[in-house]
Amino acid sequence: MGVEDDKATETVLTVLQDQSINKIRFKLNRREISPSLYQKVAKAIKDKKITVLVQPSLLASGESGRYYPEIKVDKDTEFYDVLVLRSSTLGANASEKFNAAQVIIHECTHAGFDLLKLAKMTHAEHEAASYIAGAIFSIENMLAMKGDPAKVIFREAIEQAAWKIGILEAKDQAVPKELYAALDAAIRAHPGYKHHADHTAKNDGVGREWKLK
Ligand SMILES: [Zn+2]
Repeated sequence: MGVEDDKATETVLTVLQDQSINKIRFKLNRREISPSLYQKVAKAIKDKKITVLVQPSLLASGESGRYYPEIKVDKDTEFYDVLVLRSSTLGANASEKFNAAQVIIHECTHAGFDLLKLAKMTHAEHEAASYIAGAIFSIENMLAMKGDPAKVIFREAIEQAAWKIGILEAKDQAVPKELYAALDAAIRAHPGYKHHADHTAKNDGVGREWKLK
């Protein structure tokens, strides 16, 4: 692991200590997402069961992070349980920092489900929960800075749907079924998710030893 990876690891651990984490508490279908999920992910990172890497070549253009349960490099080399980031820092200005932290929460939610070995969880569910968690985190950060989350408009349908749910969750208000349906439909329509939306995610735990030459 290089210097940039160490720096990125610190960045992720700092985000996982943010106060807004304590507000990430919601239910999706029968699953409960709570702050303890992020404490477990932080511990797994410290215990080196989850590895943070700065490796833009493993990201699509425009993507700032992705959690990979496994990366097949070649026939003799496989990495497991890796959080890949484009940058080791959150960015230069407030809006960059805001977005980067939200991505880290999103990806750490994926990592948390893998860590918990949640069974029978589809990729559509994985994404829905991760988008809602990221939205709640950013909404709580905005509220802490006296901002108005209701004024934020996203062009992207998934983010818009998750944001609407997050606003209600932040107010402890009931979320109408239609909002969950809209989020699910947006995930299923997305080119990056539609082909495997109903496939079961692996969620096989973290800490598997890497296969190296
Ligand atoms: Zn995701």
